[in-house]
Amino acid sequence: MNIILLGPPGAGKGTQARHLVETRNMVQLSTGDMLREAKDSGTEMGNLVADVMARGDLVTDEIVIGLIREKLEDTTDHGGFIFDGFPRTLMQATALGELLEATGKPLDHVIQLGVDDEALVARISGRSTCGNCGEVYHDVTKPQPADGKCEKCGASDFKRRADDNEESLRNRLMEYYKKTSPLLGYYYAHNMLTRVDGLADIKEVQDSISKVLDA
Ligand code: ADP
Ligand code: ADP
Ligand code: ZN
Repeated sequence: MNIILLGPPGAGKGTQARHLVETRNMVQLSTGDMLREAKDSGTEMGNLVADVMARGDLVTDEIVIGLIREKLEDTTDHGGFIFDGFPRTLMQATALGELLEATGKPLDHVIQLGVDDEALVARISGRSTCGNCGEVYHDVTKPQPADGKCEKCGASDFKRRADDNEESLRNRLMEYYKKTSPLLGYYYAHNMLTRVDGLADIKEVQDSISKVLDA
């Protein structure tokens, strides 16, 4: 089964994707993670996108579609893909449709994580992740364990993203409304869209998504 998790920055896409990976043998494809990896390892493409990402602008369609195409070609034997943070434009959406069509395993569901804008500042400003395994934490709603060790892998190297500040978030939200939110109509018209309440507890959101996937 192939699914898209769709929602603004901080909606909980990464958190939910990780849960699906653990419970359903699915593969998470996060273009944000791929771009950060490229940036951290200092590849030519990584250097090219660093400033764009710091501002919270979208990277070009060409770059992210290329990243996804490579991953789809290289990944085999799994319970399906979770697209997290991709597609973000209509051009990316149509490219994904074509790429998946070619694999013979088209998209099954697009899940919209519905949240209020006011919640996002708090979500983003409290976010940290484990530098080793990528587990996502939140200062208030999912604090790092008191012993300072990641609950998933035991490492004690937590990171905060440089773009998780209010100014960049405002710009990311603007990009979301201008370029990504039209995808809601696009997938609704394709009869693929289901909205779940992204403001509920992490566990409740997991249950709502499970219901959609198992229906
Ligand atoms: P968030 O968790 O806040 O939704 P991501 O980790 O998905 O953010 O993305 C971080 C940044 O990487 C974005 O602000 C953007 O610059 C870039 N990026 C990630 N995915 C895409 C995409 N599909 N298209 C264009 N830019 C992207
Ligand atoms: P996205 O990938 O959509 O940008 P994340 O999964 O990184 O979002 O979540 C953003 C922040 O909000 C993280 O700190 C995460 O721990 C927290 N979070 C995610 N889902 C929920 C939820 N349902 N309730 C409260 N906090 C949440
Ligand atoms: Zn960890």
